[in-house]
Amino acid sequence: MSGRARRAAKSTIRYRARVYAQPPDIGPRPPLDGSAGAAGGGGDRAVLRVAGLRKVYSELIAVEGVSFDVHRREVVGLLGPNGAGKTTTLNMILGVLSPTAGSVHIGGIDLAHQRARALAQANFSAVYASLPGNLTVAQNLRFFGLVYGIPALGLRVGELLRQFDLDRLRNTKCGLLSSGEQTRVALAKAVLNRPRLLLLDEPTASLDPAAAQTIRARIRSLAVDTGCGILWTSHNMYEVEEVCDRVLFLSRGRILLEGDPRRLPREHGAATLEELFIRLAREPLGESDGAPRMGVA
Ligand code: ATP
Repeated sequence: MSGRARRAAKSTIRYRARVYAQPPDIGPRPPLDGSAGAAGGGGDRAVLRVAGLRKVYSELIAVEGVSFDVHRREVVGLLGPNGAGKTTTLNMILGVLSPTAGSVHIGGIDLAHQRARALAQANFSAVYASLPGNLTVAQNLRFFGLVYGIPALGLRVGELLRQFDLDRLRNTKCGLLSSGEQTRVALAKAVLNRPRLLLLDEPTASLDPAAAQTIRARIRSLAVDTGCGILWTSHNMYEVEEVCDRVLFLSRGRILLEGDPRRLPREHGAATLEELFIRLAREPLGESDGAPRMGVA
């Protein structure tokens, strides 16, 4: 596939992530302790369990043997250089891409077997997935609330407008909002269905430092207050250190390192997380110098 075709396919996938990865019906919620029946592994704190995930595009192995959990109230950073496989991983968790192998459980529910129920536990926000600009803030929240089948929607929208300081902007079209305001609306939309798992793809990418700081604080408090688990991608190591409880370093489709972002640099002889990131990103993977190809494990 040519570079242009691949970019087009990627943006289609991202668009589809925005439109279709949303739960059509919030359905019955499994108990909050994560014990979601047989598939839930009783008493399990994991809101996301990814096991042996693999994605092959034609000859390119984009994701290889990726396994990790995200627990309740935990913010996990998915880090890696451009092309590492982060978006591919997120899209498999959102059910937009089918894995070549491996499994995804959300709130204890197997995505492959109970797709609607599993996705009803999740939601998503990304800098590239902007909300319809010709709808006002309140209309956008109502629209997505109807799509998700949120009960007592008027009350929920009012609650979120207050929670995200959007009351005075409720009748403003989203296309006219600043980046920081749009990010607040996108986050309000992403928590409409009270997800157990929140996937955030570079949520602060286009924000000034002050707006980014406010958004980070909001996201952290979401994890603490609602008990959801958050999987967050970012290229900003300062923010990762501030926000994430744990990070996963992905490089050429594989997890190279996992741990506490405040301790990892020292444990690996680096001065900062950024220095460690750069070193890992440049590390060759065995005999394969580029992305792993079929047959080069
Ligand atoms: P970035 O930080 O640049 O967004 P990423 O970590 O999200 O990168 P992915 O978008 O998951 O990386 O891409 C992983 C690899 O898979 C890259 O080599 C990319 O070129 C390739 N790839 C992604 N989508 C497709 C596709 N639809 N067809 C073929 N190859 C693809």
